[in-house]
Amino acid sequence: MTDQRAYHDRDGLIWLDGEMVPWREANVHVLTHALHYASSVFEGQRAYSGEIFKLTEHSERLVKSGRLLDFEIPYSVDEINQACRDVLAASGLTDGYMRPLAWRGSEQMGVSGQKTKIHLAIAMWPWGAYFGEEAIRRGIRMIVSPWRRPAPYTAPTESKASGLYMICTLARHQAQAQGYDDALMFDWRGQVAEGTGANAFFVRDGALHTPTPDCFLDGITRRTVIDLARRRGIEVHERAIWPEELESFEQLFLTGTAAEVTPVASVGPWNFEVGDLTLQLRKDYLGLVNRLLSNS
Ligand code: PMP
Repeated sequence: MTDQRAYHDRDGLIWLDGEMVPWREANVHVLTHALHYASSVFEGQRAYSGEIFKLTEHSERLVKSGRLLDFEIPYSVDEINQACRDVLAASGLTDGYMRPLAWRGSEQMGVSGQKTKIHLAIAMWPWGAYFGEEAIRRGIRMIVSPWRRPAPYTAPTESKASGLYMICTLARHQAQAQGYDDALMFDWRGQVAEGTGANAFFVRDGALHTPTPDCFLDGITRRTVIDLARRRGIEVHERAIWPEELESFEQLFLTGTAAEVTPVASVGPWNFEVGDLTLQLRKDYLGLVNRLLSNS
């Protein structure tokens, strides 16, 4: 059973600026810079069977995301790793989703934020299949979003920055209002980019094709799946993919920490099968994260 309570009203502990605080007391002031100007970055990572998958890569990306927003998180990668392990231990969970978040505080108001304190919080909760088990079985249904991933010269697109999610929320709302699960986003050039919270892989003639991540996140799951595919001798082509090509692909799946490997049944007018290669890579991924498959 998923917890139906609001996220601010739950039991447990949240790591906040170096201390474990009761869940309901992990609050910020309304005049927090990050709330006004999106000066925040975050991570999403999962624990499986008592271990956080690729923890160091997530902590490193968090630090890098902060630097791309011109701030330095006042903890080292090792300290962030340890804090995440402490949160996992305090949660009493073996499996779940963990959210580290770093943001500018309330010492300064206005666009400039150099004098703000940089905060870090880490929370964890149980989270099953992002799109639900049924959606995974039949494949999710997507629309094409009217929103496009911005050019790298218009936003720090390599950062997992909260501000970059504004159009993702709008895109997903639009999809859900029309009865779909998610939206596929093109980029500013019109090339296929990614989902609203996951990367995309196409299958044709036994090979994988995935857009080059030059204006969106090169996901940790994406890189993991590329490794898993190459281990099986499957060719992986990272390249520009234009919408004209979409009708020639047989399968499509999304990858992400929350989405794991999720088959896609359709995007707008294009249909895909929930095929063997997608299901094999999903199985390989779940085997790896649960340490049934070796990490090298
Ligand atoms: N793109 C977006 C927009 C995302 O939110 C995510 C999830 N963090 C990804 C891609 C996939 O990244 P990862 O595999 O590192 O979770």
